[in-house]
Amino acid sequence: MTSINDLISAKDELMEKLKENRNKIFFKQNEIKDLRVDNEALEVKLVTLNKKIQDTCPHDWEHDFIDSLQGYKLAQPIKYCKICELTDLSVN
Ligand SMILES: [Zn+2]
Repeated sequence: MTSINDLISAKDELMEKLKENRNKIFFKQNEIKDLRVDNEALEVKLVTLNKKIQDTCPHDWEHDFIDSLQGYKLAQPIKYCKICELTDLSVN
């Protein structure tokens, strides 16, 4: 027979575990928020860096065609730089 004290003690244990998990969730959510903010800043840096690379690049152009359905190539020519990966779609 389970005594009232055992039941209460089981309940206290459960509540403690719930409290711990809530705290973990709270800290992890904050960690995720911080990581998102950090990533936004990194993405801005990446865009800026890519722009700088493309502005500085001597460009080594490669002509190609955009792949279309089932790997067939359409007559849509593109020009891209083999160094900085800049794409120029205005090529004829
Ligand atoms: Zn380039």
